[in-house]
Amino acid sequence: PQLANQIAAGEVVERPASIIKELVENSIDAGASRIDIEIEQGGCKLIRIRDNGCGIAKDELGLALARHATSKISSLDDLEAIVSLGFRGEALASISSVSRLTLTSKPENQVEGWQVYAEGRDMLPTIKPASHPIGTTVEVLDIFYNTPARRRFLKTEKTEFSHIDEIIRRIALAYLNVSFNLQHNGKLIKQYRAAESEQQIEKRVAAICGISFIQKSIKLSWQHDDLTIKGWISPNIGQEQLQYFYVNGRVVKDRLLNHALKQAFLEACKSSVYSTDEGLSYVIYLELDPRQVDVNVHPAKHEVRFHEARLVHDFVYQAMSMVLSAENG
Ligand code: ADP
Ligand code: MG
Repeated sequence: PQLANQIAAGEVVERPASIIKELVENSIDAGASRIDIEIEQGGCKLIRIRDNGCGIAKDELGLALARHATSKISSLDDLEAIVSLGFRGEALASISSVSRLTLTSKPENQVEGWQVYAEGRDMLPTIKPASHPIGTTVEVLDIFYNTPARRRFLKTEKTEFSHIDEIIRRIALAYLNVSFNLQHNGKLIKQYRAAESEQQIEKRVAAICGISFIQKSIKLSWQHDDLTIKGWISPNIGQEQLQYFYVNGRVVKDRLLNHALKQAFLEACKSSVYSTDEGLSYVIYLELDPRQVDVNVHPAKHEVRFHEARLVHDFVYQAMSMVLSAENG
């Protein structure tokens, strides 16, 4: 199983940032409202993620590290309507196969916290009591210590940090009501406070995307049947492009959606002050019935498949066209 885990790790664990993505998504799936991320040396030495989510019961701690042991999908029917970010049950097993991983947790209804530790090769998790508030802490030390070929692909601390920063921005934009703290080498580097009111939300988006993005953007908000689209579009902010498209809380890079955005933008450019070479920045949230979208395409790629692709395309196109033309006229 160790080899299988390491092979699977190749798909989900490319670098510290990809580990952080998996762990933070687990915290979100656990319903956490606060996630603290601590890293050392760009995450290569240490990644520690603590959340205040539902926790893991003592009996399930060992299982959580086993491959394909997910608590999130219990039937084929569930697979049709995935609402959680994780569903393959591979991340923890993969990460622990290429690092020294400790998992400590306490669910609400348990008196004590417990900790499991599984080191690379033998994978026999040992369990012991450990004090912990309600929630979970995952600690990952020495990434790729046992796979030197992969370790050589790690870049400088600065580069790994910038990947981590980007992953956290991306997730923090998707879950505005979750607070995030990021510490690097003992220093608090980023703090995104949970946002509820419209004003708090704009403040948070400004903290993540820059104040000029929010100031120069047009607000998008439209709904039709089961489809909802919200967010901000910034057609001409002479700065680096910033493009985030979320489908049910997952960031996606989808050709169909890109096409819809681009079409609407190019149309608007013909009859307006926008010039195409200024590009388009956006943060867009599309929500639809999870049964209408297939996220089970590839673990690391940001692809989705819509059952009614044409409908979704036209909806996005129309919503975009509407705000862009309203802004002009
Ligand atoms: P998946 O997310 O695909 O289910 P993972 O390997 O990421 O698989 O996690 C395995 C299991 O461990 C999850 O199904 C969940 O039950 C549990 N788990 C992992 N992280 C957390 C967490 N932060 N809080 C609560 N449960 C967790
Ligand atoms: Mg997961």
